[in-house]
Amino acid sequence: MWKGECFVFDNRVSVNHQLEKGQYDQCHGCRLPITEEDKKSDKYMQGVSCHQCHDSLSEEQKQRFLEREKQIRLSEQRGQNHIGSDAVSQLEENRAIKQAQKMKQREKA
Ligand SMILES: [Zn+2]
Repeated sequence: MWKGECFVFDNRVSVNHQLEKGQYDQCHGCRLPITEEDKKSDKYMQGVSCHQCHDSLSEEQKQRFLEREKQIRLSEQRGQNHIGSDAVSQLEENRAIKQAQKMKQREKA
């Protein structure tokens, strides 16, 4: 059903991987690289959103990202590798975003 999305997902994971290994920070909400300057914005929340996507994320999404960020921090503290479960939650998020977009389109129609 979501073949196209799966491809994007795979692609994003590898991009994400490189970015994390590099010196960039990345906004979890929109996947764009963020600078130190961007982090000064009120709308920047680590692991959640930046000024570019803050207003387009639903409260529910932000809550979930925030929760996920907490889990990552926790697993980092425990010295665990989070990548496996990260990929799973990423899939869920993509699905949720897709659904939200669909609902919006329906509202317009
Ligand atoms: Zn963002």
